[in-house]
Amino acid sequence: MNTLCKKLLCVLPLGLLMVCFVMRGFGCLDLLAQESGLQAPPSPTQISFGLGHNDKHQTPTIAKDAKAVLDNFNGLYVGDTTQNKVYITFDLGYEPGYTGQILDILRDNGVHAVFFLTSHYLSETSLVQRMIAEGHSIGNHTHKHKNLPTLSRQECYDDIHNFEIAFDQKYNQPPQQDTKQDNAQHENALQKDAPRNGYKQDAPQPNAQCKDNQQDTKQYDAHSHKKHAIKFFRPPYGKFSHTVLEQAERMGYKTVLWSNAIVDWHKEPYNVQQATQKILQRTHNGQILLLHAINPSVLPLLTQILPKIKSQGYTFGTPQDLSQIPSNFAKGNFDNTHS
Ligand SMILES: [Zn+2]
Repeated sequence: MNTLCKKLLCVLPLGLLMVCFVMRGFGCLDLLAQESGLQAPPSPTQISFGLGHNDKHQTPTIAKDAKAVLDNFNGLYVGDTTQNKVYITFDLGYEPGYTGQILDILRDNGVHAVFFLTSHYLSETSLVQRMIAEGHSIGNHTHKHKNLPTLSRQECYDDIHNFEIAFDQKYNQPPQQDTKQDNAQHENALQKDAPRNGYKQDAPQPNAQCKDNQQDTKQYDAHSHKKHAIKFFRPPYGKFSHTVLEQAERMGYKTVLWSNAIVDWHKEPYNVQQATQKILQRTHNGQILLLHAINPSVLPLLTQILPKIKSQGYTFGTPQDLSQIPSNFAKGNFDNTHS
């Protein structure tokens, strides 16, 4: 018996060690760590964006480093906190079938939202055209929805820029024209577009990193010439770094994160009453509300919260209002950071 115990004592730790190696190989430990909230320390280049909510209608707090980077690079997580305007935004990577009804509800409540889309969503032609026609703004949620701080600077640039190219090709083409006069106008427009064709020349060097502490002094032109200008950028997963936001700003974007959100990105419906209550309790001046539209709960949720937000005394800010808020608005106006 004693011999058996000794053998077990020797073999068990060895076995456990082997199981750990195998699980590590399949990424299982990382998954377990994530699910239990024991995430590995974040990469020094990635800024963690997390909100400190309250139910007193006050601006939620964010980490100091996140706030500093947003302030420096034309980014916002909340609008003007001295005004009672709130902003509605959606992130959409594919169409599960609810966006048409969402647009109806927004129209019926006089709300103009920002829809952050990936390139995959651009195949939903009639919905995207309807968003534009009804006064919503299309935001750049990148081409492939990658975790930008982990990419090289070139890859990061490409993922932002390729959405813009895909959008322009489909939705910003000049109309087909036959007359000489129209052709001349078209030529003029193309000449005005000339700086845009220089994008690639201004693209970062292939070996440059999108991680922090990398220097790149090249400038990118803004988007003022476009029929439907893509003004807003939202990094996938809300993950960013100093360099990601610097790159987005150089490409002419205002980065827009959010100051209120619920867990609504699963396909399974959620408890609409609880979600409504949570959103309304947290609603605050300048609120940027992030919603997803991948399960049907979003429809009754929107139907309830929009009139209730109004009855709390707030109004809905337009994408135009949002674009005019200075990036460093919060500097000196309020200190709302946590460490
Ligand atoms: Zn996303």
